[in-house]
Amino acid sequence: MIYERMINSEQETEQLAQQLAELLASSDVLTLEGDLGAGKTTFTKSIAKGLGITRNVNSPTFTILKQYEGRLPLNHLDVYRLADSDEDLGWDELFYGEAVSIIEWAHLINEDLPPERLAIQIHRLEDDKRKFTFTPFGKRYERLCEELFE
Ligand code: ADP
Ligand code: MG
Repeated sequence: MIYERMINSEQETEQLAQQLAELLASSDVLTLEGDLGAGKTTFTKSIAKGLGITRNVNSPTFTILKQYEGRLPLNHLDVYRLADSDEDLGWDELFYGEAVSIIEWAHLINEDLPPERLAIQIHRLEDDKRKFTFTPFGKRYERLCEELFE
C-alpha cells in the first residue's frame, strides 16, 4: 500500500512532519527523496521539533551526518555527496542503534539501507504545493502509515 498526501503550504508540511514524529519509535529509519528544494530538510526540521529536539537542525550536506539529542535521539544524514563512495562508513551501527535516522537522498546508499524502513518521496508542484508519497517497507511501517493516514 502506498499513501499520498497533497500539501498546500510549508505549514502543512510541518504539521505532517509533527504528526509523523509523534508515531516514531527508537531505531526507526526514514528515507527522503525529492529534488533540491522539494522540502526534505524542512520536513526533517519539523520531525526534530516533534522529537523534542531544541537545537537548530540544518542541512548536513557538507558533513553527511549530524546527531541530535531529544525525546529520541536523531541521526540526520544527507548522503548527496557520497554518490561516488564505496566506503563502509558503519551505517549498520547507526541504523540499528537507538536513534531515529532520517536520510536525504537515500537511494545513493541503497545497498546499505535496512530492509525495513519508511520511504518518503516529496514532489514539488507549483509554488508551495507538494505531493508526499509514503511507501512502507515492513510491518512496523505499514502500521505506522495506517495510523498516520487513518
Ligand atoms: P531539500 O532539503 O529537499 O533540498 P529544503 O527543505 O532545504 O529542500 O528547501 C525547501 C524550500 O521550499 C524552503 O525554502 C521552503 O521554505 C520552501 N517551501 C515552500 N513550500 C514548502 C512546502 N510545502 N514544504 C516544504 N518546503 C516548502
Ligand atoms: Mg536538504
